[in-house]
This record gives sequence, structure tokens and C-alpha cells, in this order.
Amino acid sequence: MSTADTEYRSPAEEKARHEGNKLSKRLARETTRALSDYNMIEEGDRVMVCLSGGKDSYAMLDILMALQKRAPFRFELIAVNLDQKQPGFPPDILPNYLTALGVPFHIETQDTYSIVTRVVPEGKTMCSLCSRLRRGILYRVADELGATKIALGHHRDDILGTLFLNLFYGGKLKGMPPKLVSDDGRHTVIRPLAYVPESDLIAYAQLKQFPIIPCNLCGSQENLKRKEVTRMVQEWDRKFPGRSWNVFNALSRVVPSHLMDRELFDFVGLKPTGVPDAGGDIAFDEPADDEQACGAPAEEGADGLNEQKIVFSRRA
Ligand code: SF4
Repeated sequence: MSTADTEYRSPAEEKARHEGNKLSKRLARETTRALSDYNMIEEGDRVMVCLSGGKDSYAMLDILMALQKRAPFRFELIAVNLDQKQPGFPPDILPNYLTALGVPFHIETQDTYSIVTRVVPEGKTMCSLCSRLRRGILYRVADELGATKIALGHHRDDILGTLFLNLFYGGKLKGMPPKLVSDDGRHTVIRPLAYVPESDLIAYAQLKQFPIIPCNLCGSQENLKRKEVTRMVQEWDRKFPGRSWNVFNALSRVVPSHLMDRELFDFVGLKPTGVPDAGGDIAFDEPADDEQACGAPAEEGADGLNEQKIVFSRRA
């Protein structure tokens, strides 16, 4: 038993320590589940972990490093930060942090800030051009580093937010997938925190005391529409516990025959088969399926990293 295990703690400290352990285990478990469900990391992968200096990407790196030590196969991690030369960006924080952590890393310096402020008229949002430039740079860096996967720190609430943005403003049933090939067709982008709610990442950042770099250094306006849907989901979480989880879980329980997309289901060629089908039409409005009110992932007893069966994937 280590000295740390035997030293005296007040009941409040003991409770905080217990809660911290539970949180760490939950994050490891949910990340492992997402990695396995979507076959995100395979044997021999070199994963480029994109680090912005925000709480989500710090947590992603931290969790992936912990899982890497226990994984039954080998994969590499390389942390990458893009220094976009925003005024006030502290250039030493990430290199110092990553050096102390002992993880291989690369800082790419590209002054995209000057480009967007020169090209985008004053008062207009710069995010779209800035993101496009950043994406191109990250793809190039992934090539140069020989990365086989690009890991981004988006979490459950980002995915929900994107779903509602597309629904409310884009007229599309489209979210943000845990894994997808990049728009240039050359890279696999993964989101290991896809199952993790933002509230857990906020708590984890406090627990771990990550050296957060503020995200508003560029002075750009926040995306008001995204803020609006984020507020809506937060309000639901306060008033209707379980609702946002149900919406989130619905993303992986799609029933194309009960939607209206003719690309996903052959409505045009549909004919009766004569064989009863429990999933067929019941000719009336369907009541809400109460028994599927699944809520958040259940707390399991043995949820420790050590107890977990870590099975991401092995290359065939
Ligand atoms: S907030 Fe600033 S750094 Fe972030 S995407 Fe927008 S312009 Fe770029």
C-alpha cells in the first residue's frame, strides 16, 4: 500500500477522492466503449491527437494515454497543436505540459489569424474560414507525421448540438459521427469522447487541473445558434432528466422504414410480403415507447479500468 493510500484525509477529502476515482473510471469505460463500438483504433495505428488547449482535448489525450498502457495491442499516440498565432496565445503552456507528460508531440505554427482577419470583413464571423484553413493544415500534418487516425475531442453534447443545428437550421437529420473519412477522402477522423457528456469533462478538467488555454483569444463572436441549442439541451437536462440521452441514443437506433428518406428505404418498390412483421405499420399513431426510455449509461459496479475488457480492434 502506498503512502498516499494510508495518509489521513478528512471525510470531505475522502468523498472528493472517491468521486474523482469514479469519474476517471467512468470516462475510461465510456471511451473504451466508443472505441470498440466504432472500431476507432486498430493495432499498429498512429493516432494524431488534436490538442487545442481546451478541456476536451486535454481529457481525450489523458484518457487515451491511460488506455494505451492497458490495451492488448500496440498503437501510438502523437499530440498535435496548431498555433494559429492568435494574439495572446501562450506558446509555452502546451510544450511544457506535453514534455512533462512524456508523450510525443508536434506544435505546428501557422499564422491563420492574419489570413482570416485580412480576408473576412470586420464584424463578420471568421470561424468558417478559420476552420477550413485549420482542417487543411491538420490533414497535411497528419500526412507528414504518418498518422493513420486523426482524433478530435468532440463529446456527446457536441454531437447533440450538431444534430439540432442541422435539424433546426439545415433541414437535415444529420449529426456528427464518431468515425468518418475526411472530406479529402484520405484520413480517418475519430471522436473517442463521443459517449462522454460535457459535464463529466468539466469535472475532469477540475480534477486534473489541466492548464486550459482560453478559446476566445481570436475575438471572434461565439456561434449564437450553437449556443442556443446548447442552452436548450442543458435546460432539458435540468427539467427532464434522461431526455437528451434518449435523443442521443436514438442516433444509433435509426429505423429507415419509419422515416421518409427514399435513398435509405425503397418506398417506391415496397410491396406486401404476406409475412407478419412486428416492425410493420400498425395503422394508427404509435404511442411513445416508454420502455425504451433508456437515460444515461448505467453505473456499473465493476467499472474500473482494470476490470474492463479493452477490446478496440486488431487489424486482420
Ligand atoms: S473561434 Fe476563433 S479560433 Fe475558433 S474557429 Fe472561430 S475564428 Fe477560429
